[in-house]
Amino acid sequence: MPATPAWPPKSAPRLFVEQQLGDGLQVTIDGPQAHYLARVMRVGQGDAVVLCDDATGEWLASVAAAGKRDVTLAVQQRLRPREAVPDFWLCPALLKKDRFDMVLEKATELGVAMIHPVITRRCVADKLNPERARQIVTEAAEQCARTALPALAEPVKLDMMLRDWPEDRLLFFADEEGGAPAAEAFAFSKFPQRGEGQHKAAVLIGPEGGFDQAEREAVRALPQARPVSLGPRILRGETAALAATALWMGLAGDWAED
Ligand code: SAM
Repeated sequence: MPATPAWPPKSAPRLFVEQQLGDGLQVTIDGPQAHYLARVMRVGQGDAVVLCDDATGEWLASVAAAGKRDVTLAVQQRLRPREAVPDFWLCPALLKKDRFDMVLEKATELGVAMIHPVITRRCVADKLNPERARQIVTEAAEQCARTALPALAEPVKLDMMLRDWPEDRLLFFADEEGGAPAAEAFAFSKFPQRGEGQHKAAVLIGPEGGFDQAEREAVRALPQARPVSLGPRILRGETAALAATALWMGLAGDWAED
């Protein structure tokens, strides 16, 4: 008996849409997403499209009409709820554009809840195009079939970030001048004390030029700060950001869950 093919097919396009989704709703897509569906994926009436709204989860929809400017879809059934996202923030100092693009894309794939860009004194870049950053994050989430988007904060100067840092969130400070072994610190944050719940966490990564001494002292003065070392070698900012995130996900995130 031949196996019935999986539905929707793995090749079905996946898109995040602004509109909240629900059974039986109609969604009309226009602009670049309509172009992608109609011209690139060449969808036709009845074709399957997978939609996510970053709220209710992932839905199967079928093409009701594919026009030149817009595509109308009929939402049919929910396939998966929105994923439970580990409460981890990545706070990377802005880097040169192509390197920061990589941080945005890979942090999304790794499952972070928030990307919180920081501006420090030695940052080469001092601004981020929000629309472009949002597009990179959304496309990364579509490509790796996440059902949730990481929140994307506006870049903030380090001293402002420290001033407004939430009481209940640890800030692992990746300090190239040294700190506790990251693996031990991250594992401890998973089971801090008997009876205490897992700490909310974040990791702070510096720019190409690292942190200056005043910044280092200001971060270390924060009660929630936990200086950590990422080993004996000096990593590029993008490498440090992704290595620290992966390590945290493996030790205190959801990689260990079945
Ligand atoms: N200019 C600095 C130097 O030569 O020491 C290097 C900065 S490094 C390119 C960028 C950031 O990655 C650092 O500020 C730090 O946050 C992180 N990083 C790199 N290697 C690290 C390590 N071995 N331990 C902890 N953090 C590290």
